[in-house]
Amino acid sequence: MKILVTGGAGYIGSHVIRALKVAGHEPIALDDLTSGKQVRLGDTPLVQIDLASPGATEVLIDAFREYEVSGVIHLAARKSVGESVEKPEYYYQQNLHSVTNLLVAMRAANVMNMVFSSSAATYGSPDVPQVDEDYNCRPINPYGETKLIGEWMMAAANQSWGLRTVSLRYFNVAGAGFEELADTAVANLIPIAFNAIANKKAIQIFGSDWPTPDGSCVRDYIHVQDLADAHISALEYLSQDSREHSVFNVGTGTGSSVLEVIQSIRDVTGLEFEVDLVPRRPGDPAALSADVSRIEKTLGWKAKHTLDDIVSSHYRAISKQPL
Ligand code: UDP
Repeated sequence: MKILVTGGAGYIGSHVIRALKVAGHEPIALDDLTSGKQVRLGDTPLVQIDLASPGATEVLIDAFREYEVSGVIHLAARKSVGESVEKPEYYYQQNLHSVTNLLVAMRAANVMNMVFSSSAATYGSPDVPQVDEDYNCRPINPYGETKLIGEWMMAAANQSWGLRTVSLRYFNVAGAGFEELADTAVANLIPIAFNAIANKKAIQIFGSDWPTPDGSCVRDYIHVQDLADAHISALEYLSQDSREHSVFNVGTGTGSSVLEVIQSIRDVTGLEFEVDLVPRRPGDPAALSADVSRIEKTLGWKAKHTLDDIVSSHYRAISKQPL
């Protein structure tokens, strides 16, 4: 299938593009290149546009026709939780106008398959350590709200005009499937930790008094290559039949604490570094990991990589980055 990947020049999008090629699909990237990098795309065609801009619908319809697109994987979004709290209107504008423009163009051009990149941030701060997809979503920041509303938009398009669509709720994505596709953003724990080590600073641990076995926060870290493969499984699922909008958690089902991540960094790299126990970060849930029964049963997808695989692949990839 010819698949448009929005956010295709990003860290996750570029892994999805590689996975599509391996599976025999023909990806086309769409990206505004504000945080994406063209070098990640190789010979994949690029449609360069801000999806949330007023003229995007016409550009999309033209691109759908030119490339004979039959499906969309929609990853392009602003994704900084902190920034979303400071600039909610910007997050609503960026993350929701883009979905609206896409849906209008897809309906006009009769593109009937869509995988929507959602997030564990839709759950907010659950009072259970492991969430399944039926858990009542109560996002606690505008970023999570835009992802939940995006899911509702998928469900409405499915009901109204039969869009075949799946939403994937990503947990904590990290690692690198290819050395040239590292997560260079320094926005999440593992890249932040390696950045601190490189700058000879202590890694900050946000809270050591959480109600968890070792007192630090627990998350479900998923290797970006496993995540990319989940999109291929989702596309296969869509192509089988027309069905209702479905939501799937994408995680490993196993939580790792911040201290376990730090230990993995020590084990994998052998590097010496300091850690600093600092107060809790507001808004963090103590423990959040995915119940993955639904995706394993329905899509036949299962994460293959361990936490050490994630950490070592990130380390190898950033070691290869140009200074
Ligand atoms: N964290 C930390 N120190 C940091 C960055 C993150 O202890 O410098 C913790 C954070 O409190 C959370 C986990 O690492 O428990 C993952 O945080 P991240 O921001 O990567 O993802 P989130 O789970 O918030 O989406």
